[in-house]
Parts: sequence; structure tokens; C-alpha cells
Amino acid sequence: MPTTPLTVAVIGGGPAGLMAAEVLSQRGVRVHVYDAMPTVGRKFLLAGKGGLNLTHSEPLEQFLSRYGDHLPQIEPLLRQFGPQDLRDWAYGLGIETFVGSSGRVFPMEMKAAPLLRAWLRRLRADGVVFHVRHRWLGWTDEGALWFATPEGETAVSAAATILALGGGSWPKLGSDGSWVPLLQARGVPVAPLKPANCGFDVGWSDHFRQRFAGEPVKTVVLRFADFARQGEFVITETGVEGSLIYAVSALLREEVAANGRATFHLDLLPDRSEAYVRENLAKPRGSRSMSSHLQSRLGLRGVKVGLLRELVPAADFADPAQLAGAIKGLGVTVVGTRPLAEAISSAGGVMWAGLDERLMVTAVPGLFCAGEMLDWEAPTGGYLLTACFASGRAAGMGTVRWLDTP
Ligand SMILES: Cc1cc2nc3c(=O)[nH]c(=O)nc-3n(C[C@H](O)[C@H](O)[C@H](O)COP(=O)(O)OP(=O)(O)OC[C@H]3O[C@@H](n4cnc5c(N)ncnc54)[C@H](O)[C@@H]3O)c2cc1C
Repeated sequence: MPTTPLTVAVIGGGPAGLMAAEVLSQRGVRVHVYDAMPTVGRKFLLAGKGGLNLTHSEPLEQFLSRYGDHLPQIEPLLRQFGPQDLRDWAYGLGIETFVGSSGRVFPMEMKAAPLLRAWLRRLRADGVVFHVRHRWLGWTDEGALWFATPEGETAVSAAATILALGGGSWPKLGSDGSWVPLLQARGVPVAPLKPANCGFDVGWSDHFRQRFAGEPVKTVVLRFADFARQGEFVITETGVEGSLIYAVSALLREEVAANGRATFHLDLLPDRSEAYVRENLAKPRGSRSMSSHLQSRLGLRGVKVGLLRELVPAADFADPAQLAGAIKGLGVTVVGTRPLAEAISSAGGVMWAGLDERLMVTAVPGLFCAGEMLDWEAPTGGYLLTACFASGRAAGMGTVRWLDTP
């Protein structure tokens, strides 16, 4: 097998890998980026279809709190390159950003493609060389990087390697988690990849599924354990997904894993007290159907009434107190977590105990990791991309330091 000498190999051309490549190339290091797919940044482009929520404008302390248990490891990275740095960096590529009504930050054009195009142009101008359709397979017996390419297998030597291979969600975009056993075989501790920001199965009746799959459920409060938030979600063929569900998904996932099920409660009328709901339900309805009573007295209709019919025993509809209780706290039991392949992101990954503060794998000197393949998770809202960029930058800087003083 031919061996090509080069300086640093970055494997994975998503936001984390490209940021690492940028840091290195701007410091005069020769960088080669390898990616399994025919083009780089495919998941980043997909994120652009939803408007590309790059980051969030809330105060840094609040922003940091979104990383939960992994805050101690993520915080130093975000203090070096935080939400405002990311906006300034995008501006440097000619991409202006704005703060949406929810505080989320988007590019003016609400797309990823212009940013990615400008970025790749700048990286190429800085001397970064791209090798697409190069699937990393591990190492040769001699310790070289080993790739499958359309021309066959090839080995590449590098002074240092940065892995930015992503998690396991949406594998058709390139990140399929196939790196997990490769790193475990080298003694790198890896927490199993799990779905994060994911949907759940409920097991709707055929009648409910046929009528309401795809319908948004708007302006409800969802409560589960200490979690309580107003928002919206979507009914799916098998259960529930969408922003409010993603926000509570880590808690639901762990409960389902432990007990096989998890029950959250919905307040379908968050602006009305339970007493108000009960009094209005108790008013005479004459010859009107229950549906028109619910609509005329409380403004409840469509999917919200569908949920009540699906989940509340028929006898409770005759009892204003029982029905009011259900409207203000409807129990929805989820019985399964949707698969990782469908999730927005992954939890789990390379454990921090196996890395030093430069994001170098202690078991394999000269090997660095960045992005979603590290063991952290965060809700949607721009927190995912921000930490991917920040960790890519940290791994690039760490590599520069290691090349100077191994
Ligand atoms: C539908 C959707 C919408 C999203 N929207 C947002 C959003 O609005 N805001 C936000 O913050 N986040 C969003 N995310 C999450 C965000 O896109 C990811 O967290 C981010 O792209 C991860 O970056 P990364 O560089 O770590 O990995 P990736 O972007 O996954 O890149 C990894 C790269 O490694 C390559 N690779 C993997 N294995 C190999 C191998 N063996 N050999 C060679 N190459 C390999 C892949 O081809 C890929 O190009 C969204 C995700 C999805 C699925």
C-alpha cells in the first residue's frame, strides 16, 4: 500500500473537523481533510434546511447551563470560543446573523450553503487539501491511517490526527458511529451512542393515528419530573416528536431505559386555571355534542380534543372535575425511544476521562477528537453546533501545541 507523508490529517469534514482544519492551516500547518462522503458538511447543510440555528443569544451563564452534566468539560471550550465568537466568525465569512424571537441565532439567509461555500473557499485558499470518498477504516499494523477509497485501500501517515467523525444520527449523511469499535480496540473509553433530541413511541390507536399524525400540538405546557416548559410538539405515526419533546428527551430516554415507559403530563390550556375549566365544563350543554361544548366553552378542538378522546376514559367526560383534571394534566405514556438513526443528535461518545485538556486521546498520543463524537449532549437551540465548532477549534489548538511540544 502506498504511504503519503503529510502533516496533520483531519478525518470528518463536518463543522468540528473543518474548524480544526482552519485553526491549523491559519497557523501554517499543512492539513489534509478526509471524508467518507462525496462532499463534506452534509449534516450541516441539512441543519440549514431548518433555518440553521447556529447559536443562542441568551447570557453566557444560561447558555452554559444547557450542557448539563458535561458542563465542566464543555465550559472551557466555550469560554475560548462562545456564541458571540461564532457570530463574529460567521460575519468574517460574509454571513450576517440575526436573533429570532426565541433568542435563537440564525444566518440572515436561513441557510447553511452560503456559509459552507465561503468557508470551503477560504480553507482551500489557506492550503487545506480535501480528500472525499475516503472512508477511514482504522490503522495499519504500522500505525498509518487506513482508508477505503473508490480506487482501493490506501494508507496515510500523519504527524497528528484529528477525528471529527460525528455521532450516529442520520447515518446516510456520513456519520454512522462505525468509529466506536475502532477506538475501543485502541483502549479509548467510549460511552454507548444513544439518541438525543429524539422522538418517542406511544402506540396510538389506528383511528387517532390516521386522523392526527403530522398535526402540531400548539401552546401546551409539558411537565415531567422537574421539567416544565411551554411549547409545541408534533404527533407522529407512532408517537411524539418536535421541539418540546426534544427538550425533555434526555429525561424521558433515561426513564424509558430504566422502567420501559415514562409518563409526562400536558396542560392543554395553560392560560386557564383548573377551576375555570371545571366551571365551564359544568355549564349545561343542552343538546350540543361534547365536542361543540369543549369548543364553545373552552376553545378546545382538533388534535387537543383528539388527545383527550384517545387518552381519557369515556366515563370521565361526564364528570367536569375529572375532565378538567385531564385537560390541565393529561398523562401521556411513552413506551419506547425512537432509534438513533432518526434522532437530531447523539448522546455518548469518546469519554472525557480518556482525553487530556487539549482533547488528545491519552491512550494514543497525537490523536485528537472533536465535535459530536465526544461524550456530551445538549438540547436544540444552537447549542449543538456551537459546541461542535468550539471543540473543533480546541482540538486544532491542542494539536498545534502538541506539534510544538509533543
Ligand atoms: C435534521 C438535523 C437538523 C439539525 N439542526 C441543527 C441546528 O439547527 N442547530 C444545531 O446546533 N445543530 C443542529 N443539528 C446538529 C448538528 O448538525 C450536528 O451536531 C453537527 O453537524 C455535528 O458536527 P460534527 O462535525 O461533530 O459531525 P458531522 O457534522 O456529523 O460530520 C462528521 C463527518 O465525518 C464523516 N465521517 C464519519 N465517519 C467517517 C469515516 N469512517 N471516515 C471518513 N469520514 C467519516 C461524515 O461523512 C461527516 O461529514 C441538526 C442535526 C440534524 C440531523
